[in-house]
Amino acid sequence: MNAVLQPPSTRTTAEWQAADTAHYLHPFTDFKALASKGSRVITRADNIYLWDSEGAKILDAMSGLWCVNVGYGQQALIDAATAQLKQLPFYNSFFQTATPPAIELAELLAEITPPQFNHVFFSGSGSEGNDTVVRMVRRYWDVLGQPERSVIISRKNAYHGSTVAGASLGGMSYMHAQGGLPIPGIVHMEQPFWFVHGHGKTRDEFGLEAARWLEAKILEVGPDKVAAFIGEPVQGAGGVIVPPATYWPEIQRICDKYGILLVSDEVICGFGRTGQWWGCETMGFRPDLMTFAKGVTSGYIPLGGVMVGDRIARVMIDQGGEFEHGYTYSGHPVACAVALANIRLIQREGLVDKVRTDTGPYLAEHFKALSEHPLIGEAQSVGLMGALQIVKDKSAGTCFDPSLEVGMICRGHCFANGLIMRAVGDRMIIAPPLIITRAQIDDMVALIRLCLDATLHDLQQRGLA
Ligand SMILES: *Cc1c(COP(=O)(O)O)cnc(C)c1O
Repeated sequence: MNAVLQPPSTRTTAEWQAADTAHYLHPFTDFKALASKGSRVITRADNIYLWDSEGAKILDAMSGLWCVNVGYGQQALIDAATAQLKQLPFYNSFFQTATPPAIELAELLAEITPPQFNHVFFSGSGSEGNDTVVRMVRRYWDVLGQPERSVIISRKNAYHGSTVAGASLGGMSYMHAQGGLPIPGIVHMEQPFWFVHGHGKTRDEFGLEAARWLEAKILEVGPDKVAAFIGEPVQGAGGVIVPPATYWPEIQRICDKYGILLVSDEVICGFGRTGQWWGCETMGFRPDLMTFAKGVTSGYIPLGGVMVGDRIARVMIDQGGEFEHGYTYSGHPVACAVALANIRLIQREGLVDKVRTDTGPYLAEHFKALSEHPLIGEAQSVGLMGALQIVKDKSAGTCFDPSLEVGMICRGHCFANGLIMRAVGDRMIIAPPLIITRAQIDDMVALIRLCLDATLHDLQQRGLA
């Protein structure tokens, strides 16, 4: 311990960066490359805005990391955490105990989820939630006397977290390339990405075709070996890929036909992001399990979990015996107290309805206008998540050489102009806080347009566009 450590706010940006480089290994980061330029240090936030250590104000069009659904600085969440820290900062739910916030949150989640969900298993994050999914899906078939049903089908370019099981369920080839993933018993099929795979077909035709790749995969693996299918209602980290309307109902039909469990990873889509409480409601399907995290506490404190549908809960409760699985922080009382305050705030402010009937359609209208920009080949949004596909040739729909990293060039202009937008390859994506107003959407879209213009100018100067 350094006894003369300065209070954090008195350090300069350069001092922060030096200490950061010396000691802090960041997630999903090329450590050496970051050390050569230094981190941007974020020091405070309010509403939909962040401030960095240089005092620059930034519009956070990514809600932190898809999680700050109610925006920054909400007193109700701060008060809930403070009160619970004083009352009971921690107790576990092992050994036949429980705490009031965990019980009340379980009850409230049962109320706001689709009717088949009456039970929850808590974790500390989305990745852990998906570890629980793998354990529970396999245990379910074990208890039913069909242990050979252990294969889980997922999709390429899916994101289901970064633990060994989460990264295995995910379909990111660059993650699989490190550490010998995926683990056995997880297979991947192609994603429903119309812009890339749907040429010459209508979105609806392509949606049916892409869903039927599931049936082909089931027949390839063997129907008696498949335990479950998992998917994000709308792929998030993969680039906000909104599937055609025909996709999910057909996936549901195929799962029903073979008796396969259907898992919806709602870590991004849950808690109002798509204009309904749950992405499966927007996309029209009825899952047996739902993973959640991020928006459950609006990111103020870590929490995740799995909603367990009656089909599985009845088997696990009535016939399962002890489920040999759990986390120290399953049902953490402070996290659950913050989640309760967060959900009640979303309810009180009518944020889900606001996204569905007001700000979501308003954003969609503006995104449509952005698709006229010379660099944009496709603009898609659902609720308050959206993507702009950068293209080289608009009429032919061809993309830039990936090695040019045009998305990163655009992200650099966003950074320089006080806007946080994320680049996934050459897809620029947003997911702003659900409290964003129409006037703030106008500001955000004006900033996006400015950054696209700057990117185009930059590419023209380099002779690339
Ligand atoms: C972020 C994310 C996860 C992983 O959640 P963590 O809290 O980062 O472990 C899982 N699934 C989806 C769809 C996500 O977006």
